[in-house]
Amino acid sequence: MEENVVKHAFEVTRAERNQSFGHQSLVLWFTGLSGSGKSTIANALEVFLVAKGYHAYILDGDNVRKGLNSNLSFSPEDRTENIRRIGEVANLMFDAGLIVLSAFVSPYKKDRAKIAEIVGEENFIEVFVNTPIEECERRDVKGLYAKARQGEILNFTGISAPYEAPVNALIEIDTTQQTIENCVEIIFSAIENKLKLNNE
Ligand code: ADP
Repeated sequence: MEENVVKHAFEVTRAERNQSFGHQSLVLWFTGLSGSGKSTIANALEVFLVAKGYHAYILDGDNVRKGLNSNLSFSPEDRTENIRRIGEVANLMFDAGLIVLSAFVSPYKKDRAKIAEIVGEENFIEVFVNTPIEECERRDVKGLYAKARQGEILNFTGISAPYEAPVNALIEIDTTQQTIENCVEIIFSAIENKLKLNNE
């Protein structure tokens, strides 16, 4: 199939879309254990960005695992496929001119590296939400740690499946040390310049 797929040269470029939106597009990739705070911070950041007139969109488990990726399990192969598809969607949204806030455990280094490659290293910001597992388990937002401990959920990251922590994440946050508002400030100050149009 693939050899017969020929790319069409569409005329509107990402640069033009960025001009029309008034800011560069970017992919912010939140990674961390379940309950570390990825969705909470992504949500607070989106509220902040939209209030300032930026165009942002969150990709997270709720809108992806239940739809596009509803046929995928949590086996190692399916986790990789899950992240690959999300990366491709993030890349399309990036091309559409958006600030993409992607919030998934994404436990494997090679999968995250692949997204950076697809989107371009300079457009990919890894945000490591490095909350200690003891705190994530104490929060147990969705009751999943308790189920994993009882063996009701298999392949649960941090308990019965590995989490490969980023070594050089551009942004690293421990939510036991920062309020949600601080997390938003830390991230926005790290990306503010990158959002400026080249002619600003
Ligand atoms: P994840 O998306 O990583 O699975 P969630 O955002 O769903 O995690 O859950 C994180 C939980 O931690 C939420 O209940 C949130 O209110 C709480 N929390 C407490 N302090 C913080 C903080 N500083 N940043 C983010 N979340 C926090």
